[in-house]
Amino acid sequence: MAVHTFTRGLKLPTRKHATEGKPVELVPAQKQVVIPVNQHFGAPNKPIVNIGDHVARGQKIADAASPGLMTVPVHASISGIVKKIEPHLQSNNTEGLCITIEADGNTSEESLLPLDPYTCSKEEALARIREAGILGLGGAGFPSHVKLSPPPGKQIDLIIADGAECEPYLTTDEASIVENPNLLVKGLEIIMKITGVKHAIIGMEDNKKDLIPIIEQAIRLEEIKSDISIGLCKTRYPQGGEKMLITALTGREVPSGGLPMDAGCIVQNVGTLIAIAEAFTLDKPLIDRTLTVSGGACKTPKNIRAPIGTLLKDLPPAFMDIDYSKLAKIVFGGPMMGNAVPSLDVPIQKNTSGIILMTKEETAADEEGPCIRCGRCIRNCAAKLSPVIMNNSLDADDLDYAVKAGLLDCMECGSCAYVCPAKIKLVQRFRVGKQRLRMRQTAK
Ligand code: SF4
Ligand code: SF4
Repeated sequence: MAVHTFTRGLKLPTRKHATEGKPVELVPAQKQVVIPVNQHFGAPNKPIVNIGDHVARGQKIADAASPGLMTVPVHASISGIVKKIEPHLQSNNTEGLCITIEADGNTSEESLLPLDPYTCSKEEALARIREAGILGLGGAGFPSHVKLSPPPGKQIDLIIADGAECEPYLTTDEASIVENPNLLVKGLEIIMKITGVKHAIIGMEDNKKDLIPIIEQAIRLEEIKSDISIGLCKTRYPQGGEKMLITALTGREVPSGGLPMDAGCIVQNVGTLIAIAEAFTLDKPLIDRTLTVSGGACKTPKNIRAPIGTLLKDLPPAFMDIDYSKLAKIVFGGPMMGNAVPSLDVPIQKNTSGIILMTKEETAADEEGPCIRCGRCIRNCAAKLSPVIMNNSLDADDLDYAVKAGLLDCMECGSCAYVCPAKIKLVQRFRVGKQRLRMRQTAK
C-alpha cells in the first residue's frame, strides 16, 4: 500500500508507547458531573433545566438560546439532581456556564427516538445528528451536522475519516477503532448516505498498519457495500490536520481562507463517526468521551471512557493516579495543540481527547528570547505561513498585516513554537491575536 504525505511539518517523538494497544476502560459515574453548557463552536446555548430538577442520563439539559444552524445541544451524562447552574473553569481555561448534577444513585436513562438512517430523509438525519449533540471530537468542536451540509454549489466527491492521530501521547482514536470498528464503518456509511458522496477513505498514519485488518474485517462483517478504502500517510506532525490529510491523500490543496469543502472533501474524525453511528444504532446522544490519560507524571497511563462533565479531581486513582512529585503541567488534549489548565477542578468535555500529566522535563519551559530570524518557523509550517511575520505584526498591534501574513489560516498546530530556538510562544500569541480579531469584528 502506498504511503502518502504532505510537505513541511515535523518528525516528532510519538511518546504513545505507554497506552498503545491498551483497551478502553470504563469509568463509572462519580458523585457529580459539571457539564459546560457551551462546548461547540457557534452560537450559545442556554440551560433548559432548573436547580432542583431530576434529570435522567441522556436527557437534554441545554440547547440553542435562539434558533440557528451553528448550535449543538448538551445532555446529562449521569442521572441525578441539578445542584448548580453557574460559571466554572473549563478546559479552554475560561469560566463558562456549567450545570452541576449530583448523582442520586438511580440509573434512569433517556434515549433518542429510533430513526432509521437508511430510510429517513437527509433533513431528518441531519436533525438527528444535531439533536444527539455531536460535534467534531478531534478538538475544534465544530457542529457535525453543519459540516455535513455544504452550501448548494459545493461539489463534494470524497469523505475522509480522520484517524491520523498525530499528537504525541494520544491513542484515543486508535483505541476507539480497535474497540468499535463496526461503528466506525457504519458511521461512515451513514454519512455517505446523508451526503450522497460515493467514495470514502479512512486516513491513518503508517504506524497504525495493524488496524487495517480490523477495519477490513468490520467492512466485511457489517456487509458495507459503499466504496470505503484505507489510505496510509507518513507518521509526521501535523498529519491529522484536515488540510494536511486532504493534500496527502488526494494531492488537492485547500485554498487560503478555505475549508475542506473547497477541495471537494468532508473530513470527520473517527470518534465523531462512531458517535454518529451510536446516535442511530443505539439512539444514544453524545454523553461519554473516550480519551487517553498519560504523561510522565501519570502512574496509570491508559485509555478511558468517562461521562462528560467528570471532573479530573473526581477520577479515581485507578484511572488517573498522579505522581505529584513530578507533576509540572496538566494539559487537556495533546501537548502540541492542547491547553494547560491550572487545577484538577476542570471537567472532561466532548472534545477532550486526552489528559497529559507532564513533568518538567517533558515541557518546554524555557524562557523566551529575542527572535534571531533563523526562519525555522517558516520552513516547518505545514500551512506554508510566515509565523515570524505574523508574530511581529501582532507585536506591532497591526492585526490587518497579521491576517495578510496568514493568521486566519493558522491551525494552531504548534510546530513553529516547537522548533523556535528562541522559545517564543508563537501559538499562544496567535490564539490571542485571533481572539482580538473576533472582538474587533463584534465591536463593529
Ligand atoms: S503558524 Fe500556525 S499552522 Fe503554522 S506552524 Fe505555527 S501554529 Fe502551525
Ligand atoms: S523560529 Fe523563532 S527565532 Fe526563528 S525566525 Fe521564527 S520566531 Fe524567530
